[in-house]
Amino acid sequence: MHVIVAGTGPSGLALALILAKRDIKVSLLDAAAKLDDRPRAAHYAPPAIRVLREAGVLEDVRKAGFIPGNFTWRKLDGSLIAAIRDTPESRGEDGLTVLPLDRLGKVLLSHAEKNSNITIKWNHKVVDIGQDETSAWAVVRLQDGTELTVKGDYVCGCDGANSQVRKSLFGETFPGKTWDAQVIATNVYYPLEKFGFDDINNIIHPTDYYMAAKITNEGLWRVSYGEDPSLTPEQVIANQPAKYERMLPGNPKPGDYKLLNVGPYRIHQRCADKMRVGRILLAADAAHLCNPFGGMGLTGGLVDVGGLAQCLGGINEGLADDSILEKYCTERRRKWKEVIDVVSSSNFTRVSATDPERAQDDDEFIAMVVKMETDEELRKQWDDSLYDIVHDFTQYYRTAPGNNNPKL
Ligand SMILES: Cc1cc2nc3c(=O)[nH]c(=O)nc-3n(C[C@H](O)[C@H](O)[C@H](O)COP(=O)(O)OP(=O)(O)OC[C@H]3O[C@@H](n4cnc5c(N)ncnc54)[C@H](O)[C@@H]3O)c2cc1C
Repeated sequence: MHVIVAGTGPSGLALALILAKRDIKVSLLDAAAKLDDRPRAAHYAPPAIRVLREAGVLEDVRKAGFIPGNFTWRKLDGSLIAAIRDTPESRGEDGLTVLPLDRLGKVLLSHAEKNSNITIKWNHKVVDIGQDETSAWAVVRLQDGTELTVKGDYVCGCDGANSQVRKSLFGETFPGKTWDAQVIATNVYYPLEKFGFDDINNIIHPTDYYMAAKITNEGLWRVSYGEDPSLTPEQVIANQPAKYERMLPGNPKPGDYKLLNVGPYRIHQRCADKMRVGRILLAADAAHLCNPFGGMGLTGGLVDVGGLAQCLGGINEGLADDSILEKYCTERRRKWKEVIDVVSSSNFTRVSATDPERAQDDDEFIAMVVKMETDEELRKQWDDSLYDIVHDFTQYYRTAPGNNNPKL
């Protein structure tokens, strides 16, 4: 089997690595000349950790990153509202892991480059896709304007939020909504731990809400804050020092911190009508988007590619037929709608539209977090619920190759 993957982002690379392990040839095509290094994801939750393990990169991801401690909710003055207390040890083998996206990309890429089943083509922009009964292809534009067709058995669109694969299937239709807010992701050296901050902190406030998390062992922090959506990128940058001074403990002025990046993002909740049309598949941001509070975007995307690899691997090994891809489409969309959309939306409204003085009473989740501190059974239920976004597609495999009583 030969699978064409549009997009050498984290989801495309992870998919390629898992497929390659199952002896499938993969061609990765990317429009850019190199990995995207904008400040985006940094936290990957337990179900994504399982996928990174399956891709064979977890050890290197953990070496480059770290497993964080407590996850807290706070008022603007820094005082604690609630905490999910953890240590790197208590998080267990699938424990949430922190590594900035560009560094995760480097780890994934270094593994993919060494894999003889994977071919990576940079500056190969997918401009269209097509399929017939036995094959699928991507039409690619090179930098000099030349177009060529790359043909395989399936095409997987892992080409991000503005996915051309999705647009070739559905035009501009991408059902859902855009929040009336923009989130500004900044990377900064400023010792928030000296002000009593834990490894991950969510500050609840109607206008100055933010998330502050340590993202490297060398003391780099991610501070992602809400901003008026009408501000232009230039206005966002001009406003950043005043925002920091008002929001952050110690009320720092520009000379007090070292700012590395400022990335403004409009935020969305969207999911494509289908994640499969014949031999064309969509995964991760190409298929769905959510706001970044709670870090469910790439976590959900990696879980997609873990499932997609089970489906394509099953077909390649004669354990399933093409109809397993319809299960992929139905079940991954269901998980997005029933879990990821619901949980990520409430993560955002919790920080941006909850009265911090009343959060322990008014917000059911915060009330549960408080209860979890003394209720071990409840805590265990919550830990288990982190896997609710997973769907095991091997349940649709024929029980053994050649079995004439297939589930499909
Ligand atoms: C501020 C912020 C913080 C976030 N934090 C978290 C977090 O902590 N945890 C989490 O799980 N998620 C988080 N996310 C979401 C996460 O960053 C995304 O879900 C993730 O990057 C999506 O990965 P992807 O591989 O689907 O797409 P991308 O990372 O966007 O990669 C897409 C790739 O496709 C390529 N491409 C695009 N168009 C074409 C084309 N036409 N042809 C060929 N190639 C193409 C691009 O060059 C790129 O390499 C955050 C997002 C933001 C904005």
